[in-house]
Amino acid sequence: MLEYDDHIAVAVSGGKDSLTLLNLLVKLEKRFPKSKITAISVDEGIAAYRDEALELARKACDRLDVEHTIVSYRELFGITTDEIARMRLGQTPCAYCGVFRRKAINKAAAMVGATKIATAHNLDDEVQTVLLNMLHGDPLRIVRSGPVLRDPRGNFLTRIKPLCEIPEKEIVLYAYLTGLEFQSIACPHSADALRNDIRSFLNLMEQKHAGSKFTLNRTAERVRELLAAAAPTSQLNECENCGDPTPHRLCEACLMLHAIVA
Ligand SMILES: [Zn+2]
Repeated sequence: MLEYDDHIAVAVSGGKDSLTLLNLLVKLEKRFPKSKITAISVDEGIAAYRDEALELARKACDRLDVEHTIVSYRELFGITTDEIARMRLGQTPCAYCGVFRRKAINKAAAMVGATKIATAHNLDDEVQTVLLNMLHGDPLRIVRSGPVLRDPRGNFLTRIKPLCEIPEKEIVLYAYLTGLEFQSIACPHSADALRNDIRSFLNLMEQKHAGSKFTLNRTAERVRELLAAAAPTSQLNECENCGDPTPHRLCEACLMLHAIVA
């Protein structure tokens, strides 16, 4: 996943996963004098939630002596997730927030001159997403959600998920044992009913058939290899609005912003 001289932008939300990832990468990075770490946080504008998390992220960065960059939806897109939620649009606020967060992290990583982006998705997140994509009838998306996402065209920074084979329970344990101070309340907007059902199903499977999550993850890896060989790489254009690479006329974030303003 990493080269000896990488400048890693670590996406830090202030939750247990991202603070664990930051902790571990800072430890590893000390052995590689030419490497560098910058923490990146995104302020989506979620009252009574994000401020606490940003404060925890800031404290962790101070303690670990890591540079910390915060970007906000307000400055990047002119709107916050709370405002989007109040508009009661066709999709859940999480649908918009997810697309905007990806773009915000990309922008922040480019701003600080990073060579890779590390996110803290764990084994549970990964297998939930695999099943979610299958239930949405979108198997090709499984290819784009692997542990290392490299853009063969070089338009996007490589994204890595170093914790993708670590069960969520073990991360919780690590966070408690190392005394990490993390945010434990859930986002007030999070209400992805399908993902919640999948989470319960996978936990039940794991409880009754230990190793189910690992097996499903291995299966996804094999499917990914086979699909990647079969799926063509799409042609990219420049988004007419922001200039970011996109297979369409407008990138997903700009399409959403247009729909919101309209
Ligand atoms: Zn755009």
